[in-house]
Amino acid sequence: MLIFKQIKAIQKYLQNADNKLKVQGFVPTMGALHQGHLSLIKRSKKECKLTICSIFVNPTQFNDKTDFDRYPNTITTDIEMLNDAGCDVLFLPSVKEMYPDGFTNAKEINFGFVAETLEGEHRPGHFAGMTQVVEKLLRIVTPDKLYMGQKDFQQQLIVNHLIKKRKLRTELIIVATMREKDGLAMSSRNVRLDLAARKLAVEISKTLKKVKSEIRNQKSELGSIAKAGRKRLMGFKEIELEYFEIRNAQTLEKADETSNFKVQTSKLKLVALVAAKIGRVRLIDNMLLN
Ligand code: AMP
Repeated sequence: MLIFKQIKAIQKYLQNADNKLKVQGFVPTMGALHQGHLSLIKRSKKECKLTICSIFVNPTQFNDKTDFDRYPNTITTDIEMLNDAGCDVLFLPSVKEMYPDGFTNAKEINFGFVAETLEGEHRPGHFAGMTQVVEKLLRIVTPDKLYMGQKDFQQQLIVNHLIKKRKLRTELIIVATMREKDGLAMSSRNVRLDLAARKLAVEISKTLKKVKSEIRNQKSELGSIAKAGRKRLMGFKEIELEYFEIRNAQTLEKADETSNFKVQTSKLKLVALVAAKIGRVRLIDNMLLN
């Protein structure tokens, strides 16, 4: 695997005559890699001739400085994992390389409601920072295909808008969430869960599954199913629930306020989304419901 730290060097390599002819797949990450990340690499390898991964912990998308400071760094094992997975190229830039002129973003896009709700509400500035770095990376790598996880559901919706608004020449491909055996969504932050917190964390995906099966069985109306999900999670003293919502999977508009269940589920794709803190670790997860 080739490792580039400089923008000019990776661009020169990706645009050389041989590589230009290859379908190029790109997997941006913040490192602390796990099997979820590797499933994106595997998918890219299946569909592309050249797979590029980036590891960059982007300061501008952290609304909470302590979260940034505590973000796990496992670069040596990350490189080994990428090598073993057959990744072709790793882009590993410094903050200075990515932001030579500082962090200000004069060309910020207004994505409207889809970026203002849920994570947008709870992590102000997060999506502005995320789209800022994703756009920079896409302009550096100019991949044919971009691989992202369904795990960050709102993020992939916004990146889809970003690609359209900026008329970028990249196809976005969404990969299903990889889970631990008990159902917990894999996340770089999971390593920060202590034993008790790790045990409790499974209740997040359990609740999502319960809600999904209630929707499938049309047990009751959306509003009360969502409410029951919320109540279930709030019943665990150590789980600090930020939100548990059933939303329109395209627009993220509220879907649980009407009691007209059949109309809702036949016309709309629904998704349940959750964010919760266990101790100092913030976890997110989601599940498509129909
Ligand atoms: P991150 O390093 O957390 O920024 O994630 C990098 C990419 O990996 C994003 O597109 C995530 O959505 C994706 N990802 C994170 N966790 C998982 C998972 N458990 N399964 C599949 N993809 C994931």
